[in-house]
Amino acid sequence: MPKSIDALSYYTATAHPSPAHPTLNSDVTADVCVIGAGYTGLSAALELAKAGYKVAVLEAKTVGYGASGRNGGQICTGFSAGQAKIAAQLGKEDAAKCFAIAEEAKQLIIDRINEHKIDCDLAWGYLHCIPKAHQLGELHAWKEEWDALGYRDSEVLTKAELEEKVGTRIYHGALREGGAGHFHPLNYCLGLARAATAAGAVIYENSPVIEIDTGNPPSARTAEGKVTAKFMVIGGNAYLGRTVPKLYGRVMPVTSYIIATEPLGENRARALIRDGEAVANTNFIVDYYRITGDTRLLFGGRAAYSTLEPPNLGAYMKPRMLGVFPDLKDVRIDYAWGGYIAITSNRIPDCGRLSPTVYYAHGYSGQGVALAGMYGKLMAECIRGQAERFDLLARVKHLPFPGGAMRTPLLVAAMLFYRLRDALS
Ligand SMILES: Cc1cc2nc3c(=O)[nH]c(=O)nc-3n(C[C@H](O)[C@H](O)[C@H](O)COP(=O)(O)OP(=O)(O)OC[C@H]3O[C@@H](n4cnc5c(N)ncnc54)[C@H](O)[C@@H]3O)c2cc1C
Repeated sequence: MPKSIDALSYYTATAHPSPAHPTLNSDVTADVCVIGAGYTGLSAALELAKAGYKVAVLEAKTVGYGASGRNGGQICTGFSAGQAKIAAQLGKEDAAKCFAIAEEAKQLIIDRINEHKIDCDLAWGYLHCIPKAHQLGELHAWKEEWDALGYRDSEVLTKAELEEKVGTRIYHGALREGGAGHFHPLNYCLGLARAATAAGAVIYENSPVIEIDTGNPPSARTAEGKVTAKFMVIGGNAYLGRTVPKLYGRVMPVTSYIIATEPLGENRARALIRDGEAVANTNFIVDYYRITGDTRLLFGGRAAYSTLEPPNLGAYMKPRMLGVFPDLKDVRIDYAWGGYIAITSNRIPDCGRLSPTVYYAHGYSGQGVALAGMYGKLMAECIRGQAERFDLLARVKHLPFPGGAMRTPLLVAAMLFYRLRDALS
């Protein structure tokens, strides 16, 4: 059983072959220096390279090494924080514009898959399941909110209707939506990298940025080289650590774990999720799962409450899966891995400028599969002279997390609070 969160994941084991990229070992110039080859960075790189900009992407490890190559693959609607929190800050009208941006984020995935022929097992349909009967009213309110925002592809399912679709009796109903779904996240990310390089971007792998200069012109230094550019896009998200001190306290990395079973075969897989939708419960500390293209159950959740890694991830996660599908006791766990999710204090993504030419976006708070690509695109829009939509999102204010000795204890306390809230609500 793999032990480390960096263990071979189902995604790396089933990744499409893709070229290795060089390491930066000299000083180069570019129009745009992008830090991070995940959805945020690659999306910006792709947009800009297509528009004729000379783009250099610096990646600490390999393409998709971060959250983009290890997530649950669930393509979600809207923002993790919900509309009300955004409306409280920006007003209802501007919050609706943010929702429209999030809707475009999902379409962007479809468009890129089609345009660049990215083979990544895309499937549609999403079930948000309620663990408590009294939460049914919340589903109706959620549907009404989406209807009012113009997103009309959802319906509330009763417990009996849901049990026709998902082979468990633990839920009391669900909101089903047709405009969200799932895919193979790493193969999508590799497809973005392929498209960006085909458009002329140069990706440097194994080239961790150790220092940036936000002056004019901005530059990023690695152990063996430096990129000096007219603009910089920072897409390091939870994996950026302390590289850019001003961004360190703006997000908190939270660990999430995923397991993938052995292939179950069509019949057994359909008995779990009849129509192959993505499924999640509505808890703060969410369980999320789906059937993969080769009929495995891929089950994620169980955010870490401390920085200690469980000694055996598979054994740690399997009881959680059996809590939903007890009949899977005999099923082998083939893969277990984890990754860092960047959360913000209000769970709304954080974006802005560190100088007039240095942009950043991060903190999608567990809902970045679609949003990260969109924020990358919006940073590219800024560089091309259209900052309106980015500036709308950048108006959201965030309380920074404390640094220093209080950082981890506070995370542990916050997670325990949310676990308790999930249990009691
Ligand atoms: C286990 C897990 C499950 C998740 N499930 C879902 C889900 O189902 N649905 C959903 O919507 N979201 C999910 N997420 C969140 C989603 O994956 C992220 O929001 C999204 O991938 C963020 O993309 P990104 O490009 O901003 O960051 P990342 O993909 O993390 O990319 C950042 C990249 O920057 C690189 N980097 C960092 N520092 C440096 C440096 N100093 N120099 C050079 N490179 C650097 C890293 O190596 C990394 O490759 C999940 C995340 C995890 C970890």
